[in-house]
Amino acid sequence: MTNTLFDALVAPHAGSDATFLECDDGTTVSRGAFVRRVAQLAHVLAASGVAPGDRVLVQASKHPDTLALYGAALQAGAVHLPLNTAYTGAELRHFAEDARPRVMVCDETARGAVAPLAEAVGARLLTLGSAGGGGTLAEAADGAPDRFRTVPRGPDDLAALLYTSGTTGRSKGAMLSHRNLLQNARALTDLWEITDRDRLIHALPIFHTHGLFVAINTALLAGARVRLMRAFDAEAVLAELPRSTLLMGVPTYYTRLLDEPALTRERCAAIRLFVSGSAPLLAETHAAFERRTGHRILERYGMTETNMIASNPLHGERIAGTVGFALPGTEVVVTDPGTGAPLPAGEIGMIEVRGDGVFRGYLNLPDKTREELRETGFFVTGDLGALDAEGRLRIVGRQKDLIITGGLNVYPREVEDAIDAAPGVRESAVFGVPDPDFGESVVAAVVAEADAALDLDAVAETVAASLARFKRPRRYVVLDALPRNAMGKVQKAALRAEHGG
Ligand code: AMP
Repeated sequence: MTNTLFDALVAPHAGSDATFLECDDGTTVSRGAFVRRVAQLAHVLAASGVAPGDRVLVQASKHPDTLALYGAALQAGAVHLPLNTAYTGAELRHFAEDARPRVMVCDETARGAVAPLAEAVGARLLTLGSAGGGGTLAEAADGAPDRFRTVPRGPDDLAALLYTSGTTGRSKGAMLSHRNLLQNARALTDLWEITDRDRLIHALPIFHTHGLFVAINTALLAGARVRLMRAFDAEAVLAELPRSTLLMGVPTYYTRLLDEPALTRERCAAIRLFVSGSAPLLAETHAAFERRTGHRILERYGMTETNMIASNPLHGERIAGTVGFALPGTEVVVTDPGTGAPLPAGEIGMIEVRGDGVFRGYLNLPDKTREELRETGFFVTGDLGALDAEGRLRIVGRQKDLIITGGLNVYPREVEDAIDAAPGVRESAVFGVPDPDFGESVVAAVVAEADAALDLDAVAETVAASLARFKRPRRYVVLDALPRNAMGKVQKAALRAEHGG
């Protein structure tokens, strides 16, 4: 009997002494030890009543057991449901009531807060010690056998339920199958040529598609080593660079690394590939990183519902401001948002995606699923972009962030690029606010370069030199930092709420 994802990602490592995880405290976990821990945890899940198809909700700090729990959920035939540890009790309630998990796992320190909710939804509550030791789950696993009879699961069975980050509206549970995750991991591993000679610096959270699926699934598939960091810390990453070959990050990692004088070409000598995704990488960051290190960051694009969609090439030209070509097994079309008709190359429209990675729908939301997932299999991403004649994709932003002023479309990314080119500007975020005359008017939040005095007149002048009048911000607000979520995505809804008046 087979279990699609477990057989490909976890089972092959049984018996291997090679190092898999290297942790902040210097401890390591071999590949074989990881497989044994997965089995122990799977025993506890099964003993807690987890049956095939049941959800295992996990809101716990990042450490090897939390990662092994993902493998355990797979081996027990369950659906892994990881959640951001920053979610509050009220948010957790929404997820638990929606997903109805059989088991909930939280940090030992959160047990008192989570227990009433677990009881209310009829879930068994288990805990992990935040530092990697202790907790009811970990302790029970310590005494469990280290082999577990893998529960059979096929390619179309669900492997994970990931809630969208909810930058607009309520988070929705994206149902991802074994096939979705495995095919995407294979495509990325091939494309980026990840092997067991790689050592990945892993500072991303493991409750999100980027840190869990892009990073961990590919590392497991290829047998790569993982330097597992609790969180991103520029100094710690700098220290690991000389011993590593791969870094996967969000754009803010790269801007923060650039702030460190110790980031040099020599320090990056062992690195084979820097990958960026989950939010747009500024062309300026791309250029500055290349000047400093000689590396051209590889930008890729994807989302929770689709897995990875497009990537710049490993060999061949990586072009700043584009996310490259559709992955093998994935089709990308750009359509007229009104009619759904395909648009010619060069025209901006809705990005739609079909292929191996595209999810099975939103849990408990059949209408929403039908709205966004066409019968033809194309998923309407909500992102606007254009394909060039060669098939390279450029993203201009979320459709919900599109500003319509006086009946004319303004793409925030274009305005942000113009603002960012002005002297003294570190970064910007452009958004629309209600306007009695124009429907919406353009507002820009601007962050100054460290130590630079920001001259807003000069900024407006630079913008005026490159953009038509209707695209220019009517108002600028200067901020110390842009509001971002855990993945470094700028929260435009928060900006609109705060600066809409
Ligand atoms: P998430 O589901 O949290 O991974 O968010 C997916 C969204 O992040 C996409 O729909 C895009 O809006 C955005 N995104 C991901 N990668 C990129 C990228 N390379 N450039 C621009 N936006 C991106």
